[in-house]
Amino acid sequence: MAKQQFKAESKRLLEMMINSIYSQREVFLRELISNASDAIDKIYYKALTDESLTFDQENYYIKVTPNKEKRTLTITDTGIGMTKEELENNLGVIAKSGSLAFKTENELKDGHDIIGQFGVGFYAAFMVADAVTVISKALGSEEAFKWQSEGAEGYTIEPHEKDTVGTEIILQIKENAEEESYDEFLEEYSLKTIIKKYSDFIRYPIKMDVSGQRPKEDSEDELESYVEEQTINSMVPIWRKNKSELTDEDYEKFYQEKHYGFDKPLKHIHISVDGTIRYQSILYIPENMPFDYYSKEYEKGLELYSNGVLIMNKSADLLPDYFSFVKGMVDSEDLSLNISREMLQHDRQLKLIAKNINKKIKNELQSLLKNDREKYETFYKAFGRQLKYGVYSDFGSNKEVLQDLLLFHSSKESKLVSLDEYVSRMPEDQKYIYYASGESIDRIEKLPQTELVSEKGYEILYFTEDIDEFAIKMLMNYKEKEFKSVSSGDLGIESDENEAQTETEQAENKDLFDFMKNILSSKVKDVRISKRLKSHPVCLTTEGDVTIEMEKILSAMPDNQNVKADKVLEINSNHEVFQSLKNAFEHDKEKVTLYTNLLYNQALLIEGLPIQDPVEFTNDMCKVMV
Ligand code: ADP
Repeated sequence: MAKQQFKAESKRLLEMMINSIYSQREVFLRELISNASDAIDKIYYKALTDESLTFDQENYYIKVTPNKEKRTLTITDTGIGMTKEELENNLGVIAKSGSLAFKTENELKDGHDIIGQFGVGFYAAFMVADAVTVISKALGSEEAFKWQSEGAEGYTIEPHEKDTVGTEIILQIKENAEEESYDEFLEEYSLKTIIKKYSDFIRYPIKMDVSGQRPKEDSEDELESYVEEQTINSMVPIWRKNKSELTDEDYEKFYQEKHYGFDKPLKHIHISVDGTIRYQSILYIPENMPFDYYSKEYEKGLELYSNGVLIMNKSADLLPDYFSFVKGMVDSEDLSLNISREMLQHDRQLKLIAKNINKKIKNELQSLLKNDREKYETFYKAFGRQLKYGVYSDFGSNKEVLQDLLLFHSSKESKLVSLDEYVSRMPEDQKYIYYASGESIDRIEKLPQTELVSEKGYEILYFTEDIDEFAIKMLMNYKEKEFKSVSSGDLGIESDENEAQTETEQAENKDLFDFMKNILSSKVKDVRISKRLKSHPVCLTTEGDVTIEMEKILSAMPDNQNVKADKVLEINSNHEVFQSLKNAFEHDKEKVTLYTNLLYNQALLIEGLPIQDPVEFTNDMCKVMV
């Protein structure tokens, strides 16, 4: 029989599995049991929706059978089984999303990472076995098949005899090597321990024949050996347990067993609601961002159980987009199982649960922010951006939920601060919440536009992410304080006296400014005396809704509409340069042209905007020198 090849990615992963120095090999059993349990869930789910089937709890179980002589370990289940095609498709391919391609060799060397991230599941068997045989008979199928593989070389499939529906997986356990023993995977006692440790909550019995010795009935002194089938797991799902019985470690183990992430969760939320709707839920806030989080590949959602049976892997309706990083599960006895998945989307119960969960997550994040700032900032570094997207999207309809979860870098504190912290320490005379946008904190700190606001002693929020300004535009104000860019026309700071002085200066130099405006023509909307500059000679500010940072972002987008900010060139009348401009205007108009272009280009550079003609700019500089 011809060997079939694994798909390229699967092969690569398999090789790594086989060769990995993997300290937690024992999780292979967790993976196989979890698959078996899923397979029974499927048959159960089918029975509920298909009247020709009945589900008799008694008949559904998983069995683990070691055989020391043959060095085999067999995992049998009475689940839904696999057809020939399914054997081929399910066991011949892994990392279906192609996500493996994103990882570097180094990241892949650590087996733990792989398991956690891709749920390689079945393939983990190759960490302890040289050969794996899968015999399966699918529900509704007359024939059974045998799938066999000795690793990366490939696999074979052939017809096989099997009476009952379900799957049998036979592992040929590896021989012990110099420093590595695999015997524990054949020992009753250690298998029991592994099952208890990882699979205790599986809702179907995990059975094993356990041998022991007991006193003979007729003679107290003599012992007899016996073998007895035991159920190893307690079968109580973790979410049905009392919070007080559970430790952080239990929650972490569940997180790993479920492949919710490969990190340690930052926080878990265990919810048990017993009111008009009844449900239990365990939710996690991950510590790290999944590598594909901000890509199209990422799918949000929670596992959905109906009275203990998994009915959906990722129920997207349970999570709003802005909390898409949350992982976990929901189990409810009130969900009707008989409805189709499409109908589930419109289910009233589900909507109520979603609303409830949303509130819990928000509260949990808020309390994290309040009580464990460091942890919150770790979270925020990974997912803060998503919260800001949340403020911006849906026309700002979620801003109330999210505004108190936002943090921005503060000019005063040199760290992240919340809007509430900002507003609560605003001096009485400060009208606005000021912000400045730029590529980095470093660059913003050097922006001339911040001079007046800083000198006034007002705090400035630094916006370094492209979404920031868009989110703030949507927010508009916080606790009745409006947001104001330090580059906007009116800063609301100047005293009346200064105002009048600027007006006079502006009027006195009207001709000069008109002349300059003419030179720059379409590039700027206006040239005027600056009220905000203290030491710098020039800066660009904007009028209207589009700021310079927004212009940069919009022009980088593929469908850019060539949206431009209405720019104003502001000149510092206290700077020597202004004197030179005035002199030139009286004696040498050509020089005014030269200076104007230079100043404008300087202002562009400060803003991080490109100069239209760099050659001309450098030539202009030389002209000034000679
Ligand atoms: P995952 O479980 O993450 O999908 P696996 O590699 O563990 O990845 O399994 C691949 C697929 O093979 C499963 O999704 C399931 O469809 C099928 N499968 C694995 N084990 C069994 C089993 N014991 N019974 C029925 N189907 C199974």
